[in-house]
Amino acid sequence: MGDSSLTLIWLPSGIALSALIIYGKGIWPAIWLASFTANTPYLVNQLTEFPYLIASIYGILAATINTLIQGIFAHYLYQKHIGVPHLKTSKLILNFVFKVILPPSMLNMALLVIIYSIGGYIEFSAANFIDTTLTIWLSGTLADFHGYFIIVPLALCWHIKKQHNFEDNSRLLALTAMCLFCVMLISLFIINAAIYLILIIGVFVSLYLGFRSSTLFILLVSLVYTFATAQQIGPFSLTTSWSSFLSLLMFIFSLGLPLLIISAKKYELKQFQSQLEDEVIERTNALNSANTILENISLTDGLTGVANRRHLDKFLETEWARAIRNRTSISLIMIDIDFFKQFNDSYGHLAGDECLKLIAKSIQKLVHRPSDLVARYGGEEFVVVLPETENIKGISEDIKSVIDKLNIPHNDSVVHENVTISIGCCSLRPKINEQSSKLLDLADKQLYLAKNQGRNIIKTQLA
Ligand code: GH3
Ligand code: MG
Ligand code: MG
Repeated sequence: MGDSSLTLIWLPSGIALSALIIYGKGIWPAIWLASFTANTPYLVNQLTEFPYLIASIYGILAATINTLIQGIFAHYLYQKHIGVPHLKTSKLILNFVFKVILPPSMLNMALLVIIYSIGGYIEFSAANFIDTTLTIWLSGTLADFHGYFIIVPLALCWHIKKQHNFEDNSRLLALTAMCLFCVMLISLFIINAAIYLILIIGVFVSLYLGFRSSTLFILLVSLVYTFATAQQIGPFSLTTSWSSFLSLLMFIFSLGLPLLIISAKKYELKQFQSQLEDEVIERTNALNSANTILENISLTDGLTGVANRRHLDKFLETEWARAIRNRTSISLIMIDIDFFKQFNDSYGHLAGDECLKLIAKSIQKLVHRPSDLVARYGGEEFVVVLPETENIKGISEDIKSVIDKLNIPHNDSVVHENVTISIGCCSLRPKINEQSSKLLDLADKQLYLAKNQGRNIIKTQLA
């Protein structure tokens, strides 16, 4: 800038650190070569009276320190304090600014000043210490710092693959670019104070367009105003180079940091929101499965695993109504174990339970239409409901023969040496205004008949 004693922004520092983060430590020879190629001719030109060799050595040293050593140091700090290849949260951004890029900027410039002083590139004396040495150090430090600050977030967030569609924002982008262009023109050539409008556009960009646009915005604004200031145009072109330099860099930093933090906060909120949504989905699923389990428990008989009385009542009500609506028939089979009290008395309650389970399981196996229901009606009584079924004789006989074939010994039974059942069943087409209890009553009557006529038989009523 001006007499070229001030470097406004040193972009290579940011490029080197970005390359180290993205491509890993192995990229260092390329960084060194690039830095050496860029620095050496300039340094050789500066001191023509020096022997070529010494100038070259100084060029190598300067270039090495200027970009490579500070890049490696910054990369070390980056891995220590950040560790991930993005800067998407406000904490990461603050760590990046104050713990990662500030120390290498300061130390690198201190080393360079020492090397330049020894080599005679800058004059070092106590008298001009503040005017020259300190100024060079501060300007170099700030230039490095801004190089990092502008380039690294930009490189990192543009390096990561974009997830959402660019077209969504294309109108907003176009509008923002137009506003930015106008404000830049006005602040550079007509009203310097229009620079404040940049802040508004910046906030708008980071709130509505996100991280990538913010980093691009910071780069664009920095480049345009840096170039203009170097040409002594615009709001930062003040009476002295030094004050121009400082006011420009202060502006860039005080614009850039809040924009990055707003973008990061927006990202954090979005992450938090999707985390919450995931959690809600997870909890809802857990609740649903708990409800299903609970519902099953409340509808199932604990001992036998078939439907309980509650389930039977509900089911019968629904199917009864459906049969009325569709004018179809509905059947009910009532099963009662013969002399079960005696079974319990001679074999014990536990054996009685096992017998109940076995019989329930055997009935359930036979009744496999999804529209049918097997339920435990009472202590040793079971009910089978068969919607849209007329021929119940067949299935009743099947149930009976399956239980007979179980051959569960029952010494105290009067009718047989094994456990037997009595069955009462009925089938009918319900009429409007009839109650579902009619079906149970009729089946119960048939069961009573079966018991009275000696047990171990089936009695059926077809209405
Ligand atoms: P019937 O041939 O006339 O049906 O005589 P029963 O002994 O089978 O009928 P009753 O109604 O006199 O007795 C039913 C017995 O069923 C009484 C009870 O001990 C037994 N019982 C009821 N619920 C259970 C149960 O959950 N477990 C066991 N082990 N026994 C039960
Ligand atoms: Mg009974
Ligand atoms: Mg009985």
